[in-house]
Amino acid sequence: MKFTGTEFGYIARLEPGEEIIASLSSFVKARAIGTASISGIGAAGELSIGYFDRSKKEYIKKGLSGEYEILSLTGNVSHFGGEPWIHVHVVLSGADFAALGGHLFSGKVTVTVELALVVSDERIERKEDAASGFRRLELEQSL
Ligand code: ZN
Repeated sequence: MKFTGTEFGYIARLEPGEEIIASLSSFVKARAIGTASISGIGAAGELSIGYFDRSKKEYIKKGLSGEYEILSLTGNVSHFGGEPWIHVHVVLSGADFAALGGHLFSGKVTVTVELALVVSDERIERKEDAASGFRRLELEQSL
């Protein structure tokens, strides 16, 4: 990953062969980022995406072996179990220009992935919610 600091956080570029989630996790650790908003575009393959099945309280996973444009990558950074928790969704398209997408478990960069991270030192944690089975953001204030 190549990056430069900005007034809001970072602009970053992932290199071909880098795994997106692992690279982001390493970056968050190395820069001691507490929380962040992530957005990006690029191209990737060897993708694993998911759909959260509420009745089963688990993700249905789908592997994609082809190469795809990442039309939109968006998500956030928090922490769970002492480790960075990279929560990212993607919208992808292949050569047929049809869009598909889901929760991103993993994907390897094929050409480039260009990211903007708006960061904060405030560390946000996640906690597993028994009712939904989902790891929710732990936030203090209620409206
Ligand atoms: Zn998700």
